[in-house]
Amino acid sequence: MISARPHVCNHSHTHAPTPPVVSQVQCSEEELGQYRDLVDRAVEARTHAYTPNSHSMVGSSVLAQDGKVYSSGNFELTPYADHGEQLALAFALADGQKPKDLKACAVFVAKEGASVEEARTKQSSMTSCGNCRQAIFEINPEMHEILLASDGYNVEVYRAGDMLPKAYHRDRPEVPNLAPPSSDHPDPLVAQALIARSRSFVPRTNEPVGAAVETVDGKIYTGIRVETSSFSTQAERVAMANAMMHGEHQIKRMVIVGGSSAEGEIPKRLSWDALQAVAQQSPQAEVLLPDGHGGFVSNPIAQVPGYLLTHS
Ligand SMILES: [Zn+2]
Repeated sequence: MISARPHVCNHSHTHAPTPPVVSQVQCSEEELGQYRDLVDRAVEARTHAYTPNSHSMVGSSVLAQDGKVYSSGNFELTPYADHGEQLALAFALADGQKPKDLKACAVFVAKEGASVEEARTKQSSMTSCGNCRQAIFEINPEMHEILLASDGYNVEVYRAGDMLPKAYHRDRPEVPNLAPPSSDHPDPLVAQALIARSRSFVPRTNEPVGAAVETVDGKIYTGIRVETSSFSTQAERVAMANAMMHGEHQIKRMVIVGGSSAEGEIPKRLSWDALQAVAQQSPQAEVLLPDGHGGFVSNPIAQVPGYLLTHS
């Protein structure tokens, strides 16, 4: 006799899956006001987005415990687009913020040319993608994710760790950041890239990378490698997006520095794709790379030797 499979349910109804409910975080009125302002900053950041491919413009703002706000649009500078949230997080870390000191992240999404007021109440797309959610989670699962409520004005507050039930997570030994340089390099662009390198977030490879771009006006913007989710944010692209967030896209010089020695090394896995973010905007830019003896060699961006881009 074939025995029946044990029946584990006493009900006769059909089993429709129950969507998981994520509880909102209860916040004080003061905090909610701060978070509504954070959304406004994301709305403003969206106007700087660079979206020639998708035409979907995103703004994101990250609030740190000390009250500083870091904002970015999404930047489609290479086939690998950087999302607003990932860039805003990278700007905060590049400025010296510690992951545990990042408090909240807001996002605002609207198509190119869309009415911002109408977009505020369009809920279906007003949220972070899964990749960014994973990035926020890996940097600090206690961060608050701020989403607009359906009235387009109030906010809903969620804990990042609650937004990814059964989140992918790998225990990795903590990678301490490099010590900042003991003295400033005489070239301020190199000095800034070395400082940026010491702020990289590289739990996967333990290979810090910092970059700095100098505009034709002599302003310097930095970027760092941030390794989260399935897609790491490259220092060069972060530095370029940082400049473009400030309305600058004419780059005169760029420095990229990896390794952990004081004088720096050419980063492993430096790829043409990373340089393309700058080359697209400024094909005349010069790229300074460490020579391995404490100096830097300058190459026109279009002529960075191929062997440098593929070495080990
Ligand atoms: Zn995203």
